[in-house]
Amino acid sequence: MRPFPPYRIQVVKEIPITTRQQREEALARAAYNPFNLPSSMVTIDLLTDSGTGAVSAAQEAGAAQADRAYAGSDAFYRFRRAVDELTSYPFAYPVHQGRAAERVLFSTVLKPGQISLSNTHFDTTRANVELVGAEARDLPCPEFGNLDSREPFKGNIDLDALEQTLRGPDGSRVGQVLITITNNGGGGQPVSMANLRAVRALCDRYGVPFFLDAARFAENSWLVARREPGYGHLSPREIARQTFALADGCVASLKKDGIAPMGALLGIRNPELAKRCEANLIATEGFRTYGGMAAHDLERVAQGLYEVLDPNYLRSREADAARFAELINQAGVDIVQPAGMHALYLNAGRLLSHIPAYGYPGHALASELYLAGGIRAAELGSLYLGSFDENHNLVNPAPFELVRLAIPRRTYTMAHLEYVADVLADIAKNPHRVASYRIVDAPPLLRHFNLKLAQIPAGN
Ligand SMILES: *Cc1c(COP(=O)(O)O)cnc(C)c1O
Repeated sequence: MRPFPPYRIQVVKEIPITTRQQREEALARAAYNPFNLPSSMVTIDLLTDSGTGAVSAAQEAGAAQADRAYAGSDAFYRFRRAVDELTSYPFAYPVHQGRAAERVLFSTVLKPGQISLSNTHFDTTRANVELVGAEARDLPCPEFGNLDSREPFKGNIDLDALEQTLRGPDGSRVGQVLITITNNGGGGQPVSMANLRAVRALCDRYGVPFFLDAARFAENSWLVARREPGYGHLSPREIARQTFALADGCVASLKKDGIAPMGALLGIRNPELAKRCEANLIATEGFRTYGGMAAHDLERVAQGLYEVLDPNYLRSREADAARFAELINQAGVDIVQPAGMHALYLNAGRLLSHIPAYGYPGHALASELYLAGGIRAAELGSLYLGSFDENHNLVNPAPFELVRLAIPRRTYTMAHLEYVADVLADIAKNPHRVASYRIVDAPPLLRHFNLKLAQIPAGN
């Protein structure tokens, strides 16, 4: 029997239904950049799973009675309890979102010229490493490079490369190892417990701190239970506890597995490091018991941390993603294998093989999903990861041309996802009709948010 969501829907929000003509005008007004689209023109929004999850009645009840005391509010103690049931970190600070936790931690731990090693740094994570004057170096495992491989833990860090770096001439400059679970920049693939244990052992041997970027800790724990021998009998909470216990601390955006509109956690084991982070936090985010968060959001996060570990919820979320992947494959479109939980990554380079990298096949597919069906998605290809000269010519394309379909938590039903697969199937019947794009203007920093493009109709 197919797993089903362990909730019913009590409050709904209407979504806009538009015509192709309206969407063509809207996308042109947005300079062909989906980040510039007003959401009132988007029917199914798969741009991100961050802060877009549906909140529960229990979360809203907590929010309604939230205690807004500046120091030591009830909301903080509920947050603290939820974190204590999950981690063994003696110091746990709320912050307004993941990147604030990154900034506070990295600016305290890292020095200019040092190196941060990771399976893959998420984009804000990389930016916060670089803002300190340190280098962010990704060491994904070799299986990650094969999009079609069904290896269960393609989010792992390459342990050989990690050890070689720690032992080699750059070893003394390594300031931290940061493992992203699940590996968002790497196809949303999970990291195994065996990989995390090996990272812990190497960090101990070479005296380097080990932190987690744990935005999707519950989904990683669920996939460990499902895919790693020896974990199937453990609850997601028990696996999450073991995961956090391996590291010296964590940064975690709770807009993902906190199922909250806003919030994050900075967890730290070392008292001396915590003291330094706390000073930074109070100066820049807020007092240690609210860290820039409103009490109502702190309550939503505290409650969300319980709800996200419900095995029935995780089972149904995994099943929806798997079913969505199956429908997309039936539509004739390949995805990065195996399907994870928070997003599916379409292989646009393969579907639109007639569009060269400088015509941006990933962007072309994302734009066509919008034009054909009002579906918003993010390109993860050469626009995002390629390098350009000063005239916006693509010099080095990305290794892959992907489109990420993020799946917001508890927000869309399977019928919505079936609709997306139907739209995709129509596109896949006639890929040659899909327009390509060229860059008109690109800022030097955070390019993909502010790009302007022009459409080159198919056949030109
Ligand atoms: C979203 C995310 C972040 C940043 O968190 P924000 O809450 O968006 O600031 C960092 N790392 C990963 C892996 C993420 O998915």
